[in-house]
Amino acid sequence: MRYISTRGQAPALSFEQAMLTGLARDGGLYVPEAVPTLTPDEISALAGLSYEDAAFRIMWPFVGDSFSEVEFRAAIAAAYDGFGHAARAPLVQLAENHFLLELFHGPTLAFKDFAMQLIGQLFQTTLARSGDRITIVGATSGDTGSAAIEAFRGLSNVDVYILYPHGRVSEVQRRQMTTPIEDNVHALALDGDFDDCQAMLKAMFNDFDFRDEVALAGVNSINWARVLAQVVYYFTSAVSLGAPHRPVSFTVPTGNFGDIFAGHIAREMGLPIQQLVIATNQNDILHRTLETGSYSKSGVTPSISPSMDIQVSSNFERLLFDLYDRDGAAVARQMDDLANTGSFKISQGALQRLRDGFASGRASEDETLATISAIRATTGEVLCPHSAVGVKVAADHLDATPMITLATAHPAKFPDAVENATKDRPPLPNRMADLYDRSERLTQVPNDLAAVENLIRGRRQT
Ligand SMILES: *Cc1c(COP(=O)(O)O)cnc(C)c1O
Repeated sequence: MRYISTRGQAPALSFEQAMLTGLARDGGLYVPEAVPTLTPDEISALAGLSYEDAAFRIMWPFVGDSFSEVEFRAAIAAAYDGFGHAARAPLVQLAENHFLLELFHGPTLAFKDFAMQLIGQLFQTTLARSGDRITIVGATSGDTGSAAIEAFRGLSNVDVYILYPHGRVSEVQRRQMTTPIEDNVHALALDGDFDDCQAMLKAMFNDFDFRDEVALAGVNSINWARVLAQVVYYFTSAVSLGAPHRPVSFTVPTGNFGDIFAGHIAREMGLPIQQLVIATNQNDILHRTLETGSYSKSGVTPSISPSMDIQVSSNFERLLFDLYDRDGAAVARQMDDLANTGSFKISQGALQRLRDGFASGRASEDETLATISAIRATTGEVLCPHSAVGVKVAADHLDATPMITLATAHPAKFPDAVENATKDRPPLPNRMADLYDRSERLTQVPNDLAAVENLIRGRRQT
């Protein structure tokens, strides 16, 4: 399996190279040259397998000869070993035809662990083989950073730097990034918002001298290996509700379009998904794009679901590539427009395909809080604010097909919003109950590329 760039101007890479590289050198994102499919019989045969065995069967066709079967199975086993639930991604029922996929039983209590834990294992396997030392830089709206630090802390061939928007992540998110004691971990509080963090990350990748000097690697949701790991739970949950014989729908709380793009891939692979619903908070660029056909940035408004406070939805570029029949030049033109004018207009044909494949909705702050409170009253399930955005939007799209809403984080990760909605403060799981007592270590940095690059260079030399 080879991987090509969405902008058509970077060399094709193997799975391993695409994973280590992150962003392509033409500014695009790597996607598989062709998406492998599973037959209905192969999908049926996933029923009753362990999460790990299903994960192997779903991901293996994408890996090619980058890892041996034994290595890949071992990485999967180690990745999910630390989860706090035997099923890894359990499905619970909320209402007659509405199910919740709990993706928050990993070590940092958000769905990001599914991909990041696996990537950590795969990086370790490949770096042990080559002896190389790399610098991972990530930008986070909160959950990617903690998941990355958890996955890479203490690894001998990796330094991990995480840029997060100063003062704009929850206390639990911040503490998960600032309390690990391993000295290969560096939490950088950037003076700006998440889009500033993401823009700085992109600028570092486009500074080829710096990129080569520090052997930069990316683990943001643009990393193909992360998308791939997220494809698995679309299959396992759908199969447990009767797929491929019975189609299902999904609603996905969306920020950077990584998680829902994994649903698009699952559908391309042959999983019968009827509706794929994009759920946004008040930062609703994706919802507006479906309504108007114009992808147009406005400022980020901080919300109670901060991991979705995003205007530039990086993985949307991967979908655009498909909407434009994989015409890299067309994608590059749209991305130039976005960079130059802050918006681009989707062509009529591509827009039609977008609307055929996806629905969308938005939840306001009040609707989010009301959903947390209503779902607790009717089911006992306590939702985090991101999951509540999903549940609210899903409720507007229910029909005869079973709907699965992705619960992307544990409520205890966002205790203020949950307490506001329910009057009860959700407790942290026992295994991390001392988080508030550990001491913190972080560096505040200006929104200035040269300053941050120099900091990273400096720490590398010491
Ligand atoms: C990252 C995140 C999201 C958004 O996921 P994308 O893949 O960026 O669309 C939603 N909810 C939570 C809790 C997250 O951490």
